[in-house]
Amino acid sequence: MTLGSVPLASTNLQIVDGARRNSTLICAPVIAESVDQMLTQMKKAQELGADLVEIRVDFLKNFSPRQNLEVLIKQSPLPTLITYRPKWEGGEYDGQESKRQEALRLAIELGSDFVDVELKVAQGFFSSIQGKKPEKVKIIVSSHNYESTPSIEEIGELVARIQATGADIVKIATTALDITDNARMFHVLVHSQVPMIGLVMGERGLMSRILTAKYGGFLTFGSIEAGIVSAPGQPTIKDLLDLYNLRLIGSDTKIHGVIGNPIGHSKSPHLYNAAFKSVGFNGIYLPLLVDNVANYISTYSSPDFVGYSYTIPHKEDGLKCCDEVDPIAQAIGAISCMIRRPTDGKLMGYNVDYLGAIGAIEEALRGSNGTPPSVSPLAGKLFVVMGAGGAGKALAYGGYEKGARVVVANRTYEKAKELASKVGGQAMTLAELKDFHPEEGMILANTTSVGMKPRIEDTPLPKEALKHYSLVFDAIYTPKLTRLLREAQECGATIVYGTEMFINQAFVQFERFTGLPAPKQLIRDVLARNT
Ligand code: NAP
Repeated sequence: MTLGSVPLASTNLQIVDGARRNSTLICAPVIAESVDQMLTQMKKAQELGADLVEIRVDFLKNFSPRQNLEVLIKQSPLPTLITYRPKWEGGEYDGQESKRQEALRLAIELGSDFVDVELKVAQGFFSSIQGKKPEKVKIIVSSHNYESTPSIEEIGELVARIQATGADIVKIATTALDITDNARMFHVLVHSQVPMIGLVMGERGLMSRILTAKYGGFLTFGSIEAGIVSAPGQPTIKDLLDLYNLRLIGSDTKIHGVIGNPIGHSKSPHLYNAAFKSVGFNGIYLPLLVDNVANYISTYSSPDFVGYSYTIPHKEDGLKCCDEVDPIAQAIGAISCMIRRPTDGKLMGYNVDYLGAIGAIEEALRGSNGTPPSVSPLAGKLFVVMGAGGAGKALAYGGYEKGARVVVANRTYEKAKELASKVGGQAMTLAELKDFHPEEGMILANTTSVGMKPRIEDTPLPKEALKHYSLVFDAIYTPKLTRLLREAQECGATIVYGTEMFINQAFVQFERFTGLPAPKQLIRDVLARNT
């Protein structure tokens, strides 16, 4: 739906920035107990770049419609949406319904740009304002489902029912139980003949709040401050604008993301979105909280979903969803990158973790022992890999390829054994590794998630054991300096940060996603700012 099709009340809503590629508005929910606090928030929303404010008058203590609405509407620096949400629709108001609707009528009279009315009472409300609503005031008729996201047919019927009330704008908010739920909302949004707000709440609904700009949503909500949200899953205005480059999303924007669970900690969206923007690449990169990879891949099968990074715990499942897999990924049994081939839509799987990590370790070893470039400094070394998951396999195969003698230590012994047998190495448990030191100057690589945020005081190997290693690498990159690396440094070992592995493989993935050379310095700068 374009802005042009909804004659809007305020000139503030006109698109002035030539770079803006969609008409989706950013609406900041204003939630406070006093009018003064609300006015402060509205100013902040404007400074942050919101297009309008949703004034949640149900949060006001001692709300006096006559006095307060006039101030709020007239003094707002941005166009206003008045919402007076009752408890029965998930809001705060639990007084008389007639008084609530009276306040909404007053908001119309005072010329609020938008007024929200719940579907359950919309018909009666429209009868009460017949002939009295100024053309410039637009009524949003809303329906909230805090339990689930219904079928496409049911959402479609809901749109028709809302439209039949006389709504200027349809609003449907549902709840994501799975990331695939968003697809049904996108389907309805893209086919909607009326201006529509279609959002899916909750952590698994994040993509709906961003991609609504691609599918023609009328607005998306962005919170003024992180954590102070009017519905679960709302990103901040700053994230919408600076992290996801919301204004640059067009109907032809290609979708990328990192598939994992959990995924909130991932720095990849910061890195790829900034890199895409810097080279003018028409793509977006999202954190994708996926429970079942096969369901995700079969649901989002359109040619616009083009590239993914894979992280814990989905690297192996990702491989099973590929149409073709490169030989290294096949040997490792896990992918870290998936690309939809433009020519035939086939999904290609790669493992670029291997390139990133081994390259970073070799570079550090060369720096410390001056091995000539023709020989890998890993050749002949005793290379201990902790962990036997996706990253563990990449490191173990990488070490093997370079001629190292590989040892795999893992919490679950069977997995260590299986991996070690493939790379001709020795297997043991993490507990056994504590007393393992057949020689000095070994190389250690941690690929377990032990020590990763938020459990940064954990470490996979006690400090006493670290003195036998000359170089310690940790795949974890949040935090950059893990306890393992700090203690290894204290023991005199050379340390290699997980960020180096991440950066090296990010260069490769960027090139696979875009076909363009990676903006290497920018990627390093973004990562430095975000770790
Ligand atoms: P994964 O396939 O799920 O494997 C996880 C590994 O960690 C398994 O070996 C698992 O042992 C072990 N583990 C988990 N919890 C443990 C605990 N409490 N105690 C002992 N061992 C435990 O994950 P992945 O993809 O290989 O990723 C592993 C780590 O590498 C993550 O921290 C990830 O962020 C990092 N990584 C970094 C980069 C980078 O670019 N720097 C790239 C990829 C991954 P079991 O087999 O016993 O379960």
